[in-house]
Amino acid sequence: MDKKNEKKVMQEGEVISMQEAIKLLGTTRSTFYRWLRGGKIKSMKAGRQWRFYKQDIDRFLRGKDPIVDLPVDIKPFIGELEDKLRKAGGSKYSQGEQEDIPYFVNLLIHLACRMRASDIHVLPIIPEEGKDVAAVIKFRIDGVLHTITSADLRLLAPVVEQWKRMAGCNIHETVKPQDGRILMNVEGKDLDLRNSFLPSLMGESVTARVLSKDVVSTLKSVEKIGYSTSDREKILKSLKAPWGSIIITGPIASGKSTSLYSMLNYVINPGKKVMTVESPVEFMIPGAVQIAEREDAGMKIPVILRSILRQDPDIIMIGELREFATLQLIQQAALTGHLVLFCLHTEDAAGALTRMMKMGGEPFIIAESTRLIIAQRLVRELCSGCSVAEKPDSGELARAEEIMLRNGMKMSDLPHNFRKAVGCDACGGTGYRGRMVIAETLEISPEIAGALEKGASAEQLREVAIRQGMTTIAADGVKKAALGKTTLKEVFRVLALK
Ligand SMILES: [Zn+2]
Repeated sequence: MDKKNEKKVMQEGEVISMQEAIKLLGTTRSTFYRWLRGGKIKSMKAGRQWRFYKQDIDRFLRGKDPIVDLPVDIKPFIGELEDKLRKAGGSKYSQGEQEDIPYFVNLLIHLACRMRASDIHVLPIIPEEGKDVAAVIKFRIDGVLHTITSADLRLLAPVVEQWKRMAGCNIHETVKPQDGRILMNVEGKDLDLRNSFLPSLMGESVTARVLSKDVVSTLKSVEKIGYSTSDREKILKSLKAPWGSIIITGPIASGKSTSLYSMLNYVINPGKKVMTVESPVEFMIPGAVQIAEREDAGMKIPVILRSILRQDPDIIMIGELREFATLQLIQQAALTGHLVLFCLHTEDAAGALTRMMKMGGEPFIIAESTRLIIAQRLVRELCSGCSVAEKPDSGELARAEEIMLRNGMKMSDLPHNFRKAVGCDACGGTGYRGRMVIAETLEISPEIAGALEKGASAEQLREVAIRQGMTTIAADGVKKAALGKTTLKEVFRVLALK
């Protein structure tokens, strides 16, 4: 029987009750309910009773996915994704025996993986005047959202249903938000998709975070994150120290956790006991004892940290410093022979010092316990396949000059290998591919400690650090643009300089 006929027969087929279906399947009621919730069996509701087509039950017994009746043709959207996948250099994936809807979702995940997306977004969006409501599909690539396609909104429900099926969620729950995971292998890579379904006015909104299970090979080594030579030397020197704390600071999405994990991965070895407390655990690091904060169970960071200190660790990592109780424990640990790594949420390195003072830290103890502060942002790297040499415009150069002067340097001290973003198939037309950090590192010198004790402002502390040779984040960005690794436009975008 061909597919078309099979569908037709199914719609006209014999309808059976739940008892009959359970008997046919030879299973228990609870298992049957689980299959029903997970969308493995196609069902209908007649009043308060579940009803089933006998053919659907037979199909399940043959191990086949349920057939989904679509209100509109999905083929054009499949064709569009296939084209994009081919362009992105991934031609190995094909439909085979798969039904259209499972194929569409799988294809979308394959494409996301090919295009190096960190997140997949499906947004049921209220249209502009005169346009149809659409389910817009976007990928976040190197921190920026890109629209991939816009599908007929009537396809959203069956797509979300399939997505939930794959994520082990209840397909009949369409009112409450749900979370679920999908573990799958794409082109030899083990993926861990963290999916979130949120009902909205125009339909369910889906967000999938794409994580690789192979963290260690995904994490860049500290040497390859993009720190300048002098910053890198300071970081590696501090990581080799037996005690003291290293702070990574920056706003949200500045690559703090990735840098923190890379540094942890650098210091980890069988001769050291490494313990972490995080909220939540983002990556699993082989060789470390990782503990997640659980506020609901009263397991807050200070409580866990106090116990960690009794467990004789050598190296301790804290996801984020938020309150004085944690700061006190960090300082105690750093001053009693532990290397402590943690994140803080401030704009720049000097701001980390004043933030700890505001939390209630003593200047003397802050200076004694802190070894290095790294402040950073992420900028997109120019695509090596398509960027071309081009001088930035005079406005951009003037702004860059201003940044360099404030840092005690001149534009004429730098090489002028500026390049421009163009766009090709390899970078999805964006002109950029991958990201690197721009950073500043502040070492606690006697001068900094002295200024801190005198109650210096963040601005004054920054001046002292610059006099001691610190390159600011902005100046590091200008230097990297002058080397042709990124552009001034990108640096100014990330630093929110208009
Ligand atoms: Zn390119």
